[in-house]
Order: sequence, then C-alpha cells, then structure tokens
Amino acid sequence: LVVLEGVNKWFGKLHVLQDINLTIKRGEVVVVIGPSGSGKSTLCRAINRLETIDEGSITLDGQPLPQEGKALAHLRAEVGMVFQSFNLFAHKSILENVTLGPIKVRKKSRAEAETRGKELLDRVGIGHQADKYPAQLSGGQQQRVAIARALAMDPKVMLFDEPTSALDPEMIKEVLDVMVDLAERGMTMVVVTHEMGFARTAADRVLFMADGQVVEENTPEQFFTNPQSDRAKDFLGKIL
Ligand code: ATP
Ligand code: MG
Repeated sequence: LVVLEGVNKWFGKLHVLQDINLTIKRGEVVVVIGPSGSGKSTLCRAINRLETIDEGSITLDGQPLPQEGKALAHLRAEVGMVFQSFNLFAHKSILENVTLGPIKVRKKSRAEAETRGKELLDRVGIGHQADKYPAQLSGGQQQRVAIARALAMDPKVMLFDEPTSALDPEMIKEVLDVMVDLAERGMTMVVVTHEMGFARTAADRVLFMADGQVVEENTPEQFFTNPQSDRAKDFLGKIL
C-alpha cells in the first residue's frame, strides 16, 4: 500500500533519512521505535508529505505522492495523522472538528458528515460530548477525537507519532484501546511509540531506527526476545 524506495533526506548536513526501503502492506500494523532524533517523526511526516524528500520515491497505492494543491489535500485525507499534540481546532466543537474535513475535502453533505462523525465519536467513546469544545475535554479524550477526525476522512493508512506521549498515565490506556480496536478492524497503521505493550500486542512488524537508518525489522516476538544489533539491545536495555 505504501512503498518507500531509496528514500534519503538531509536537514543541512544532517542525513536524517538514510536509504530507507520499506513496504507497508494493506492491513499491516508497523510500530517504529528508536532513540530520540533517529528520524521516526521525519519518516512519518514524509509519508504524508509534511516533509519533502531529497532522493528516492514514496508511493501510495502505486501513485507517487502529489506535490501540491487539491491533490495534496486529498493525500492528507488518505493518510491520516495523529500527533503527540492533539492539534484540534480550539474554536470548533468536537462534532465540527470531525465533520469539517469530510465536508471540505471529501465533499460530503453536512448531514452525511454528521451521521458518520457521531458514529466515529461513539466508537472512540466521546459520542456524548459532541457539542463540547476541545478545552473542555481531557487530554485522552482530545486524542480520541483527533483519531476520530482522521478516521472521518476514510484514510487508507493512519500514521501515529507518539500519540500517548503527552498524556497522563491513566489516559494512555483509553487511547491505546482505540488504536488496538482500529488495528483489529484491519486498518493499515504506522505507529511511532514507546508503548512496548502496544507493540507486542498489536504490531505485525517492529522497525528499529537509529541515526536515520532502519537498523532492524522483525516481528515483535523476535525483536523483543532476540534483538540482533547492539544499538537495539542497548535501546531495549534502557526502556524495558
Ligand atoms: P523523537 O523521539 O525525539 O521524536 P525522532 O526520531 O522523531 O525523535 P526526528 O524528529 O525525525 O526524530 O528528527 C531527526 C533529526 O532531524 C533530529 O536530529 C532533529 O533535530 C532533526 N530535525 C527534525 N526536524 C528538523 C528541521 N525541520 N530542521 C532541521 N533539523 C530537523
Ligand atoms: Mg519524533
């Protein structure tokens, strides 16, 4: 579904993505882990073209990523992204947050967008708060709204960049539960996270990144019980 071939990117002298080759199959859940600064966020941002790449190609469903304009807005709908900071529209209600994109980009009618929006808010457990504003919700609730908002665009793939890192411990599980449910429903997902429990239960594959390279790529079982590289052993030693 998503194919990266020979992807290289530099920030000035920093070679932040080094010859990345990666194929994400439909329905696959790929967890990306690695030390700070290894390029995990940049990789995600390149896949929905929040960052450009200097060399190589990225395709979605066989099509190169569009460069600009309407096609780019469409791509951002197809590739849903959830960030550490929830990035909700503060001056819009929860329901408006999940209907705006479908109405503007997907050209849905308001009625259609609201029906679907309420359904998705129910699914993430926020249905009864649709008329509230983001500031009236907890961090965990806001993050679940952010997930519903991305899903409302009917994405082909969902990217999560440390979606629980900014949350208080008691709110992490409610967000991870939504993500596990999504994985079980067959969503194609790329998840940058330090939540090793999620990686063990939901991931089909774990990518370990260091210094802009994919150093290891394995099933969670293999990766956690038998890491191959010293970098991965060292990293796991610190976080587990
Ligand atoms: P973290 O775990 O801290 O989120 P990460 O693996 O997501 O780290 P990236 O955010 O992808 O890492 O950053 C990789 C490297 O690129 C870092 O050294 C970072 O400082 C640098 N970098 C990121 N964005 C930019 C930018 N816009 N301009 C210059 N350098 C950048
Ligand atoms: Mg990051």
